[in-house]
Amino acid sequence: MRAGVNRFSRRTAILSLLLSVVIIVMVAGGTVLSAIGQVSNHANRLDDERSRQTTDGALKTFVAQLGANLNDYAAWDDATANAYDPNGLAWMISNFGDMTVNSALFDVAVVIDAKRNVLMAYQDGKPQTVPMDQFFAPSIWILFDSALSPIDPAVPEAKAFIRTKSGIAAVGIALIRNKSGTLDQPSDKRLFLIFARHLDNKVQNLADTYVIDGLHLTTASSEVDNFVPVWDPSGTVLAKLTWPSRAPGDISYSQVSTKLIAAMSLFGFLLVAVFTIGLIEAKRLRSDEEAARQLSVTDRLSGLLNRAGLFRALDDLIDEARLAKSDVALLYLDLDGFKEVNDAYGHGCGDDLIRSVSAGFRCLIPPGATLARVGGDEFAIAFVMKNCDPAALKLADVILAFFDEPFQIGERIVTVGTSIGVASSQIGTINSEELVRRADIAMYKAKEMGRGRAFLYDGSMDSDREMILALEAELRVAIDRRQLTVVFQPLVSAATLRVTSVETLVRWSRPARGPVSPDVFIPVAEKTGLIEPLGIFVLEQACEKAKHWGDIVIAVNISPVQLRNPTFATQVARILDEAGIEPSRLTLELTEGYLIQNPQRASQSIDRLKALGVKIALDDFGSGFSSIGYLRQFGFDRLKIDRSMVAEIDTSDEARSILQATTALARSLGLPVTAEGVEREEQAMILRLCGCDELQGYLYGKPVPAEALADILVNEARFATGMMLRQTA
Ligand code: C2E
Ligand code: CA
Ligand code: CA
Repeated sequence: MRAGVNRFSRRTAILSLLLSVVIIVMVAGGTVLSAIGQVSNHANRLDDERSRQTTDGALKTFVAQLGANLNDYAAWDDATANAYDPNGLAWMISNFGDMTVNSALFDVAVVIDAKRNVLMAYQDGKPQTVPMDQFFAPSIWILFDSALSPIDPAVPEAKAFIRTKSGIAAVGIALIRNKSGTLDQPSDKRLFLIFARHLDNKVQNLADTYVIDGLHLTTASSEVDNFVPVWDPSGTVLAKLTWPSRAPGDISYSQVSTKLIAAMSLFGFLLVAVFTIGLIEAKRLRSDEEAARQLSVTDRLSGLLNRAGLFRALDDLIDEARLAKSDVALLYLDLDGFKEVNDAYGHGCGDDLIRSVSAGFRCLIPPGATLARVGGDEFAIAFVMKNCDPAALKLADVILAFFDEPFQIGERIVTVGTSIGVASSQIGTINSEELVRRADIAMYKAKEMGRGRAFLYDGSMDSDREMILALEAELRVAIDRRQLTVVFQPLVSAATLRVTSVETLVRWSRPARGPVSPDVFIPVAEKTGLIEPLGIFVLEQACEKAKHWGDIVIAVNISPVQLRNPTFATQVARILDEAGIEPSRLTLELTEGYLIQNPQRASQSIDRLKALGVKIALDDFGSGFSSIGYLRQFGFDRLKIDRSMVAEIDTSDEARSILQATTALARSLGLPVTAEGVEREEQAMILRLCGCDELQGYLYGKPVPAEALADILVNEARFATGMMLRQTA
């Protein structure tokens, strides 16, 4: 559910990001385009204005050129001499009229007197047929009046655009006079020269000269954007000289905008491409990450979740329980005897066993439950259920029953058990760390209480834990201050019942609370390393006390932890030497644990001890995994049958046959056997029949302080001497 929401919001985020990118690209593109648009409009306006000014100048120049020409012809001494001559018409025709043919300068030439009488009129090299009144629009007379009475008397000329029958023309009127400006004629005899230069057929020339494409004349009334009006002297617009806007800005704009749009599209495309590639890459990374994550929470051997995976799963289950107002159950399992299998048959066999156990768990757990392998031989099972404790304990029972059957690993049949701790997080109120801690404590409790069982966590276990910590601290002080003591328990010959040896057993009485069983503090000492000074203390005490006990064998229990210390044999030699005790009088009792865990090193240590002449007994035989054939390689001198094996031999046929088989095996290996925990005569009888040569138990004596044991030995010696005296008597 949470994953779904995440995926949804991630997709929304990606889409909005993509949309934002596209919008940004579009807005940026739009802004640039609009800026370019403004620039191009401005460029258009500038160009139009330039064209207008050019056209205006062209028109003015057009008129000015005509005026300059007219001045050349009218203020001319020859013209004055001939025009005012009554026979001067021929001259005027050849010098004015004929000049109108194919002339770029003027195409109409008229000579008129002050009373508006036309003396000569030519157009395009031909006599003008249309009367002057009709050819020129009336505004010509305005011009005429200007020339007749000019503002500047020195320049009796006027020029402007006038409509004619042939179109629109620049028209100039000038007094015919001497070059110097003088004229020897009365004012009513004055003659005027009129030149007209038609614009209509010269527009193309203007366009070419001034580089204004498409320049043309259009009617005054036409609606055009770019034009220069052609005025006549009356202030009437005769026509408009117009041109199509070149709109250079538009051209640039369209060129630039096309490129820009292409560039923007490319940019946008690239962005989207980069984005998409990024997304794909991110997705690939995510899936790689997911695979790596999966791998990081998986145990390779079993394929189950590992420790990290368990914690992650528990966090989720606790969240789920909180929401559903339900509980999380956690079973913490530790295999009993796994190390022994691993050491005895090799890691391959151990791995197969783990796989078999995992497969079994998979079948036994409820559907949907979480299963993890959290350590070498530790497993965890978790599930969510309302009021989960009874179900969890029931599951624990099913699992314990499952371990009743041995496992077949290849050719081998191996037996392992499990100890289970159960804890629960009610309505998800306890976090994963605390839940695991509680289940772990409950599991240790199960181990302490004898393995192969399940315990539900309760608060008192925490105080047990604290008690152990306190115990450790006190034990350390006690060892330091040599407050521990030793007691001795006699071992008797099965044949004569005489004390053959004594087992040294350590005792500790806590100052405020009284005696603590070695079964409680020895494991604590082993776990904390205190066992080394403790062991040396016991050994020293044993040798010290037993100094005066004749040839009685002294047995001392040795923890596997002590055997790990390579200087142990040297320490033993020193203690024996200091007490003056023959090494052959000392028997060290070893349990099988370390021998199986680390056969190589154990064998070296044992060899070193045996080289001193010390004897080695295998203690607690029959209580654990023990395979006597396997243990044979260590060269023990004696076997001690565990009291659990002895306890029921007088009441159970099965127990008796197991004992018989074990002693037969020991005999076949040539090993003498001690039986411990003998409390009843019946047991002693059976043990004797089975061939045990040494017996130990409350029947023959409880562990007692050195002084009490010395008394026993003295009494026994006295009794023996009495017997001998009686026999000799
Ligand atoms: P263990 O080596 O098997 O020692 C024999 C235990 O059986 C002693 O318990 C002894 O009191 C008890 N026992 C003897 N006869 C009988 C009997 O007839 N009936 C019953 N029910 N019990 C009997 P203890 O003294 O409590 O020692 C317990 C264990 O603590 C010992 O088992 C041994 O493993 C360990 N231990 C004791 N002293 C030392 C020591 O100095 N060093 C080390 N490493 N371990 C020690
Ligand atoms: Ca012992
Ligand atoms: Ca024992």
